[in-house]
Amino acid sequence: MRHVFEPAPTGRAKCRGCGRPVGKGDLRFGERIPNPFAEGETILWFHPLCAAYKRPEAMLETLAHAPPGSVPSPEALERAVRGNSAHRRLPRIDGADRAPTSQAKCRHCHEPITRGSWRIRLVFYEEGRFLPSGFVHLACRAAHFEGADILAPLLHFSPDLSDEERADLVRACAEMA
Ligand SMILES: [Zn+2]
Ligand SMILES: [Zn+2]
Repeated sequence: MRHVFEPAPTGRAKCRGCGRPVGKGDLRFGERIPNPFAEGETILWFHPLCAAYKRPEAMLETLAHAPPGSVPSPEALERAVRGNSAHRRLPRIDGADRAPTSQAKCRHCHEPITRGSWRIRLVFYEEGRFLPSGFVHLACRAAHFEGADILAPLLHFSPDLSDEERADLVRACAEMA
């Protein structure tokens, strides 16, 4: 098997998907890629669910070959993979927040995103890195992601939101459905 699951030997390494550390002893997913800067290979480490959302193909390939019982809760990972491999734009979802200014324009409709309104952060994967690639209005999500249900990855990649903000985001998604 190319990619790996293993317990994190320390709590220092950060997940590529969400930028937060993977706790010592917690299961982590390693995607093996050709080293973009040198000979040989390098491994990108993720929380398993972060990889399922942002690198669905690599996760799917690994789940298909994992010995039974070797991956805890594979159903949750498979669900995330299935959801996000349905459309090429879905793995680019990097969470939601309220626009701090009105300067950014929506990548979908090209209109400004009004200060205080919900926006979806996007990233673009290139050679082992996730590069910030702008925002779309929450209201533009159905058009941009072709009707896919994105609430789960949206909440997953928004760990900084308070409970109240999360509830508000869920409500906003339901209202604009
Ligand atoms: Zn993560
Ligand atoms: Zn828009």
